Amino acid sequence: MIAIIGAGLAGLSAAYHLKKDYDIYEQGHEIGGLCKSYTIDGFTFDYTGHLLHFRNKEIKRLVTRLLNNRLSEIKRRAYIFSKGVYTEYPFQSNTFGLPKKVVKECLLGFIEAFLKQGQGSSLPLQVVSRGVKGQENKETFEEWIYKTFGKGIAKHFMLPFNEKFWKTSLDKLTSDWVSWLVPMPALEDVVSGAISIGNKDIGYNPVFYYPVNEGISVLPRSFLPHINNLNLNMKVSRISSKNKTLTFTNGNTVEYDFLVSTMPLPELIKSCDDAPTKIESLAKGLKYISVYDINLGIRREGISDKHWIYFPEKEYPFYRLGFPMNFSKSLAPEGCSSMYVEISHRDGRETPKEKLINDAINGLIKTGILRKDDEIAVKDVIDIRYAYTIYDFHRQKAVPVIQKYLEEKGIFSIGRYGAWEHTSMEDAIYQGKMTAQRLNKKA
Ligand SMILES: Cc1cc2nc3c(=O)[nH]c(=O)nc-3n(C[C@H](O)[C@H](O)[C@H](O)COP(=O)(O)OP(=O)(O)OC[C@H]3O[C@@H](n4cnc5c(N)ncnc54)[C@H](O)[C@@H]3O)c2cc1C
Repeated sequence: MIAIIGAGLAGLSAAYHLKKDYDIYEQGHEIGGLCKSYTIDGFTFDYTGHLLHFRNKEIKRLVTRLLNNRLSEIKRRAYIFSKGVYTEYPFQSNTFGLPKKVVKECLLGFIEAFLKQGQGSSLPLQVVSRGVKGQENKETFEEWIYKTFGKGIAKHFMLPFNEKFWKTSLDKLTSDWVSWLVPMPALEDVVSGAISIGNKDIGYNPVFYYPVNEGISVLPRSFLPHINNLNLNMKVSRISSKNKTLTFTNGNTVEYDFLVSTMPLPELIKSCDDAPTKIESLAKGLKYISVYDINLGIRREGISDKHWIYFPEKEYPFYRLGFPMNFSKSLAPEGCSSMYVEISHRDGRETPKEKLINDAINGLIKTGILRKDDEIAVKDVIDIRYAYTIYDFHRQKAVPVIQKYLEEKGIFSIGRYGAWEHTSMEDAIYQGKMTAQRLNKKA
């Protein structure tokens, strides 16, 4: 018997692909994990934006089939708001429109970095700067920013945005996670983006996919007809890897032969009765940031034509916001608009909900997105505790050691928080599939 902890996308995909007996145990009263939606007064929100990007053809085919083709392909309209103007995402190759002095600093800095790094080679920068995922890397994220983008882009976007988002000094972060997430333009793109607009398709998400008529929770739900043995409201509290048993908060205990866990890695280790002290202390050192997801429903049509906007400047408390009604009209009532506002926080430092909402609304009025007289019909806050794992030097060393220990015990810790990674819905589905295929081969 294979036990699966968690009915998020990774756990559901593992179950879907398993050809052996399994049981899924989910602590919540519904499936989906972070890939959930909820509706208040006709406004539907995900846990901030949950947009599908496909790099793997098999997973794209699977998702399209599960959703009966009811997916829209949408061309990204993503922007940065800084110095009082909107520029197109990604910042580094779309500086046109910013004050001339800023454009000059960004361009000169990039050329200087390009010459230093490529030593005058004619290779596009992405070829020489791309890091290799998983390889030990001593370079800090801050060094990588300066090396890749130069002083101007660092000063005007990369440093302030990332400090605001990570709530961590950037010289404590590694650069091994950036290879697919941070777009690395060629010199030509940076120059043409400084003198005109025209670099929209750079980065991993120039188009995205979203369900035609509902929130993203339709995706986990689409697995349901194909899986069985789903046990909701079953929170795993203790794991004995020696006896191969799981114990739940309700006192029940079950046995397993192999365990697939998608719960956050530090919590998994904390639940293991027999983990060695070294593994416990490695797991304790893993860090993460949390995100306040402030969801607003506004009784005014078309407050923005954009999909999402980044805010690097300190005077705005949020680092990003997005507009669900522009992903699918079905997400807001007619004549209304909807918005998610994202504010990161660390180390359990909590801010009262009222303050979060007021600060967000005041910031939005300052940007001109909201008007003082706007009627805000829905104001809701979700605190996403485990939102982003922090890629520091401790994580780089600790995660492979912990994973090796767990696999030796027949435990596969997968998914965004199980693998302790910065990965997407597509990756969670892929990891579930790969793990099931490994387990299908075991006697
Ligand atoms: C703010 C934010 C925005 C994002 N935006 C996007 C996006 O636009 N596009 C994209 O592709 N991805 C996005 N992601 C990432 C995406 O949400 C994840 O990659 C994916 O949902 C992870 O699925 P998972 O199954 O690995 O983990 P989870 O969804 O976390 O599922 C784990 C499950 O385990 C359960 N569990 C935990 N502990 C226990 C326990 N002790 N006992 C029983 N059950 C337990 C949980 O309740 C949960 O249901 C975003 C993530 C965040 C935080």
